[in-house]
Formats: sequence, structure tokens, C-alpha cells
Amino acid sequence: MSLVSMNAFLPQAKEKKFAVGQFNMNNLEFAQAIMEAAIELKSPFIYGVSEGALKYMGIEYTVAIAEAAAKASGLPIALHLDHGSSFEVAMKCIRAGFSSVMFDGSHHSFEENIRLTKEVVKAARAMGVSVEGELGTIGGVEDDISVDEKNANLAKPSEAIRFYEETGVDCLAIAVGTAHGMYAGEPNIRFDIIEEVSRAIPVPVVLHGGSGVPDEMIRRAVQVGVGKINVNTENQVACTDAIRAALAKDSKVYDPRKYLGPARTAMVEVVKSKILLFGSNNQA
Ligand SMILES: [Zn+2]
Repeated sequence: MSLVSMNAFLPQAKEKKFAVGQFNMNNLEFAQAIMEAAIELKSPFIYGVSEGALKYMGIEYTVAIAEAAAKASGLPIALHLDHGSSFEVAMKCIRAGFSSVMFDGSHHSFEENIRLTKEVVKAARAMGVSVEGELGTIGGVEDDISVDEKNANLAKPSEAIRFYEETGVDCLAIAVGTAHGMYAGEPNIRFDIIEEVSRAIPVPVVLHGGSGVPDEMIRRAVQVGVGKINVNTENQVACTDAIRAALAKDSKVYDPRKYLGPARTAMVEVVKSKILLFGSNNQA
């Protein structure tokens, strides 16, 4: 199977009330772990790639790895640019083989965000590529982008609805109180905002900062209209913890496979638990 756009599974997710996981890819082991978990649970999924990860892995390797996973697994897999910062970077990814892009214009004014997102949607749609937009600013740290929690602006439902109507995005990330990275306490998620927006638009709402959100909150968010959930930090923590443990156990180890193998296994478990929590198992 070739890579697919998010429209291969997001409409079903919205209709049947499950969410598809976006699991970020940081290297080969991440890609393999995510695929292995999804094969076992017969789940569609999204490989998220930030601009920082793209720089780290190289665009050709990134696309080749995702295409290999789609071919080997036979699963509907989207390769998605995470938080694309410009029209140019989105087009570069599409030309290289990405099947989906996020354009994050949330740091622009509302009108400018609509104008820029519309341009990306127009170009992407012509090539069968899906687009995620963002409204409101999500707190926390992702790559080099750091947003103070106090400056994280929640999305206004009326604006989110107008944003959808004018841009025609395939899913919409709205700031509802989650944050990138790990939480110090419990997040305060505004389920009322998710519900109001989701009722008014035909596409799913996207929840960023899914790592560390209590399971009950995730289930409730999916019930009120979240159809895509981004997870990165929890896999990064599982990966690094497993490497630390392997190195601590054997100070003479030098073969990377001896510590990257356990790291991969640890990430398979994280991804499996998320797929079951999101309810996307047996939806491929
Ligand atoms: Zn994000």
C-alpha cells in the first residue's frame, strides 16, 4: 500500500467516535515501533514529522522509511508534516512524498492565518494531500518553539468554526488547554470548546500534547469530537529510559542494537496502549 492522506481514515474516526494517533518519528526505531504496534492492533496511524526531526533525519530518508512501512504493513499510513511553519516547507514536503501537512499559522493574526492556510489547502488538495490547521496557541515546548502556558490562547469556538468554513482544512487543531511536553500537574481541558466546535464542523478536532493526559480525559475528548491525537513525548521518554537502563546494566556495551532494541520494544508498548485508548484498533 502507498501512503494515504488523512482522509482515508479521519471521516470514519469522526463518525464512529475513535481517534487516530499521530506518533512522531524521530529515527528508524520510532518508525519501526509505531508500525509494529499498529500491525498487531490493525490500526491506521499518522507518522508526524516536525521540522526539527526533518532536519535531523533528512527528507529523503524520512519519506523512504514511511513508504517502506506502508508497503510492509499494508496499513493506511499518512506521513504528516507537524507544525509546518510556511507555505514553502509544506510544498517541499509534498513534493518529496508527504501525504499530509499541518500548516501552523497560529502565531499570525486570525485573518492572516486564514489567508495562509487557504493557500496551503488549495495547493495540497490539488495533489490529494490532507491539511491540518491550527487555531489558538498550544502551550509547552516543541522543537525550538516554546510557548509560555500563560500566553497559550484558547481557541474561540466562533472563530474556529469560521476558520474551518473559510479554509476547508481536513482537521483542525484548537488550543483547549493541553500542552506540548510533559505536564507538571493535570491539564485543564476545555471539553466544552471541543464539543461546540466539533458539532458545528464536519471534520475532527485535533488534540496536541496528548502525552501525559489522563486516560479518562482522553476518552472524554474522543467522545466529544477529537479524532486525531498527537503523541511524541511519551515515546521519547520510554525510548530514553530504556537506553539508560540498558547502559546502566552493562557499562561495557558498545553495540547500539543492544540498547536501541530495548528502546524500540518499550515504544511498541506505549503505542499499543495509545491505540487501544484511542479506539483505533481494528479500524485499518
Ligand atoms: Zn503540536
